[in-house]
This record gives sequence, structure tokens and C-alpha cells, in this order.
Amino acid sequence: MNKTLRAPVIAGNWKMNNTPAQTAGLIAQLKPLISSADSKIVVAVPFIDIPAALEAAKGSNIAIAAQNVHWEERGAFTGEVSAPMLKALGVPYVVVGHSERRQYFGETDVTVQKRVRAALNAGLTVILCVGEVLAERKLGITAEIVRAQTEIALAGVAAEELRRVIIAYEPVWAIGTGETATPEQANEVCAILRGLLARIYSKDAADRAVIQYGGSMNDANAAELLAQPDIDGGLIGGASLAAEKFAVIVNAAG
Ligand code: PEP
Repeated sequence: MNKTLRAPVIAGNWKMNNTPAQTAGLIAQLKPLISSADSKIVVAVPFIDIPAALEAAKGSNIAIAAQNVHWEERGAFTGEVSAPMLKALGVPYVVVGHSERRQYFGETDVTVQKRVRAALNAGLTVILCVGEVLAERKLGITAEIVRAQTEIALAGVAAEELRRVIIAYEPVWAIGTGETATPEQANEVCAILRGLLARIYSKDAADRAVIQYGGSMNDANAAELLAQPDIDGGLIGGASLAAEKFAVIVNAAG
């Protein structure tokens, strides 16, 4: 697989942390530390922090993501935010299918598919999260699980739209636990996903697709994970909330 066809994408998932002012402050801290990075840098912030984040990141190499999106454009969906609303704010990226959404908020493969579709329709780029839980890994069905999650999420996504989909392989047992997949384990699953994309789309589309690893990536383990042939970046939770640590990860990606 030709890694030179893909620019790494390092995304921080700031989850339900920080007020608008704190978000702007963290971006201000981060900016000088990562200004010479070649990779794409994204931070996913709470909805309420998006305007402050966009303003703080202006003129920098940091792009802003939302952490979720609803599949309908408008209507009686109290508490939800639609893709055209995000687009109107100027948000280019959205995270869809994060395991915390699946675990705590009843997200299913089918609702993930609907959200992916809505985000792409609105012109957003999706960071699509897939990954197995520990019991599935122990049963030896990781490949089947991540293939099924990905295939369902991409149902109806055309080859030219795949350029606006980043896949984040995030083993659920490694998220927020301090337990990281080994570089070999992480690469193996990213390669399985690339193989799936080659089957659904084409080898060329698969070679160009950005596939991240996420799950307790930090300043100490990032370089080894990011050096793997099928890992094109990271989705980072905890370690992305400290500017210095996140900058080490960004700079490890080149
Ligand atoms: C995440 O939130 O996607 C994540 C990978 O979190 P952490 O890095 O804290 O495991």
C-alpha cells in the first residue's frame, strides 16, 4: 500500500470538556507548537464551543470538527444539530459513530449510516469511528465486526464521496483506558479496513483513503503507531487536551 498517497490526519477529540473561552485558550496554546506540521490537524469540540474554536483557529493549520450530527436537516428533534447548521457555521469536519455515542446514547450502525449520509450531503468531511469491544476481540471476530460497521456506514457512499470520509479504527477496549493496541494489532485492523475499501470501491480508492488509529494514543506511543504502513494518523482523546502532549503527537506524524 502506498502511504505517500495519503497525508496523515491527526484529530483531537475534546469530548465534553472546556467552555468556549477555555477552548479558545487551548487552541491559542496549540497554534505555535504545531505551526510547522505537515499533517492535517483537526480538533473536535462540543457544539457550544464551535464558534469560539473557529475564531481562535482562524489563519492557522487547525480545522474544527463537531462531535456528532443529526441525519435530518430540520424539525422536531429537540437537542439535535443538523449537518446544514454545521455547514452554515463553517465547520468542515464531523465525527460520526464514536464509541461513546454507541455505548451511552444508543447509536447503532444504521443511525451511523444515516448521519454519514447527511454529513456528506451537506458537504462535510466525516471522521467515521469503528471498533470492536473487548468481548468481540476475545472471540476472534474483530475483523468481522469492523468490516460490518464500516460496510453499513458506507452504504450508499459513492467512490468520489469516499475522499470526504476518514475512517478511525478505535478498539473500544483501548479508549480512555490507558490500554493501547500494539502497533501491529492496530495496523492489522487498519489494513483489513483498507482491504474492505478496495473490495467495495477500488484499490486506488483504498490506497488514497485515510485510516486513523485511536485508543489511548499519547506522546509516548504515537511515533511507533504512526509509523505503521496502514495507519495514517490518529484520533486522540485524553492526550489531546494537553497542548504540549498533543503537539508531540502531531509532530510525530510529520
Ligand atoms: C477517543 O476519544 O476517540 C479516544 C481515542 O480517546 P483516548 O485517546 O482518550 O483513548
